[in-house]
Amino acid sequence: MYDIAVIGAGINGCAIAYYLKQSGKKVALFDREAIGAGGSGAAGAFISPKFSKSGELKELMELAYPFALDFYSHHFPTCIKNAPLLHTAKDEEEARKLRDFKENTALGIAPAPLHVTQILTQDAQNSENVYILNGGVIDAKGVCHAMAEGIDFFKTEIDALAWRDGYYELGGIQAKEVVLAYGAYTPLVNEPYINLRGIWGHRIDIKTSARTEVTMHHHVSISKCTDGIMAIGATHDVHYHPQKNEEPYDIEAGRKELLKRANLTIELKDVEVLNDFTGLRCGSNDYMPLVGKIVESKNSSKELVYYPNLTMINGVGGYGFVLAPYIAKKLCEEIIQGKETDESIAPLRFYKRYLKRLPSKR
Ligand SMILES: Cc1cc2nc3c(=O)[nH]c(=O)nc-3n(C[C@H](O)[C@H](O)[C@H](O)COP(=O)(O)OP(=O)(O)OC[C@H]3O[C@@H](n4cnc5c(N)ncnc54)[C@H](O)[C@@H]3O)c2cc1C
Repeated sequence: MYDIAVIGAGINGCAIAYYLKQSGKKVALFDREAIGAGGSGAAGAFISPKFSKSGELKELMELAYPFALDFYSHHFPTCIKNAPLLHTAKDEEEARKLRDFKENTALGIAPAPLHVTQILTQDAQNSENVYILNGGVIDAKGVCHAMAEGIDFFKTEIDALAWRDGYYELGGIQAKEVVLAYGAYTPLVNEPYINLRGIWGHRIDIKTSARTEVTMHHHVSISKCTDGIMAIGATHDVHYHPQKNEEPYDIEAGRKELLKRANLTIELKDVEVLNDFTGLRCGSNDYMPLVGKIVESKNSSKELVYYPNLTMINGVGGYGFVLAPYIAKKLCEEIIQGKETDESIAPLRFYKRYLKRLPSKR
């Protein structure tokens, strides 16, 4: 019997499994494909803050961003490469956000040095930008594997949760508790108040004679160039879903689009595409993650009823690698110490909004 089973071995599943193991729990980690195979395996995995003036996500990101840099550097130093980050505005609306951000942030920013800006296209040079001194890029699959080290891994697709009065039965394994970390793929708990949607993304690793010493975010994300290799990635396709579309994803068209957008930032020469990585990232309606206990809406009791020994960690959008260390720590504290996660990230907030739309229910 395991103490806890984690379903989904992306960055969220691996981070919570890691924290639970560190707390002395016997953990089983499930993935239908492999460790770091979903959205996490496709990610460019840049650690960047949220560039806006204010808001709940901005506040959460201001906590999670330095926490993530510190967490990866201390616990998984071989999986992080530090690099400054140049974020360039795509349009006037974003330029306004960047100006607000610069006036309000406590993070270390500076004017972008000449050797960074002079390699940009004219359009990028003329656009508003923010230069962050302390950024990082994570080895996405590598860190998932490193976190899962020493944890029992099962390559199994879980198709149902069976609660047997005290424990869950999952693919022939028994566990006292379950954490759902399945990203944008088929949900195992269908609750009308939980709406998560997947956005398809594509990353390519390319060989090129162009060089950059910093990570760049503009129309797409472009990594620092290491040994002549650069990663270019974006999640932008809201229509494609690998479990719903009949046609396979058009890799060639995706490559062309990524290269076209990257060339709006720097001129890429002598390009050879080495690898493609694709996957879904999963976002919520209010862009905040969903972390913690799950209310059972069909229960007719007047009190709030939660699914027994069941929690989730999901909905991290385009910031999974930034948020996962921080929110997994919060979830671990909820599971081990009974400390409830803040309502701004708990699934409970969506349940309350759902109830308001159903005034007769409670
Ligand atoms: C192209 C691209 C670029 C990105 N760039 C960045 C970036 O620069 N920085 C950043 O922070 N984030 C980035 N993201 C977002 C980031 O990748 C996601 O936020 C993150 O991967 C979400 O992790 P997850 O663990 O929730 O989901 P996933 O990584 O999708 O993991 C879910 C896992 O659950 C498994 N699973 C699903 N259902 C079941 C089941 N029933 N049984 C067993 N296993 C199951 C899946 O196989 C999958 O491996 C990017 C995403 C993409 C696609």
